Amino acid sequence: MSVNIILLGPPGAGKGTQAARLVEARGMVQLSTGDMLREAQASGTEMGKIVADVMAKGQLVTDEIVIGLIREKLAQGGSGFIFDGFPRTLAQADALAALMEETGQSIHAAVELQVNDEILVDRIVGRAEQARAAGQPVRADDNAESLKTRLMAYYKQTSPLIGYYHAKGLLRGVDGLADIDAVAGQIAAILD
Ligand code: AMP
Repeated sequence: MSVNIILLGPPGAGKGTQAARLVEARGMVQLSTGDMLREAQASGTEMGKIVADVMAKGQLVTDEIVIGLIREKLAQGGSGFIFDGFPRTLAQADALAALMEETGQSIHAAVELQVNDEILVDRIVGRAEQARAAGQPVRADDNAESLKTRLMAYYKQTSPLIGYYHAKGLLRGVDGLADIDAVAGQIAAILD
């Protein structure tokens, strides 16, 4: 059975970029709760309406909602999952462990993309500028105010997961400041 991994790291650390690489190179399946929530918003579902404001502010949506989204995806079967932006709280991490057990699967590694805050601000502002230049929609939460809240949410609510996965023997750190190919290489070494 193919392996499942978690990508951990603050907004702008490169989780989405590396997940896309793994999908392309290995046929893994990206499960991004951020993408799922944005889809729910775009399609105007009740849940999308409920989370829109919370997301625009850069806060975390409730554990119940995101755990429900992941539960639904896992119920469809398959393996080789990349959990991208999930879990973000200890309650979500416990829920994921339980869901994995229920489906007879396990997490191979929690890969922490290590970066520093200045880089994150540059990358996120750059991402918004690139989208604007290309005439693509800019994420509602890619602005300075939301970013501050998102970083705070990361340090307060998500960074405890580093200790959690370390205690489980699953934590693997990679240098998220290296270029995209080098980071991909480090992740490949963890997977192989
Ligand atoms: P992302 O695309 O991963 O940066 O997520 C964008 C936004 O969606 C976050 O700032 C949160 O508001 C929300 N979100 C995504 N994943 C989660 C999660 N696992 N738990 C809570 N909120 C989430």
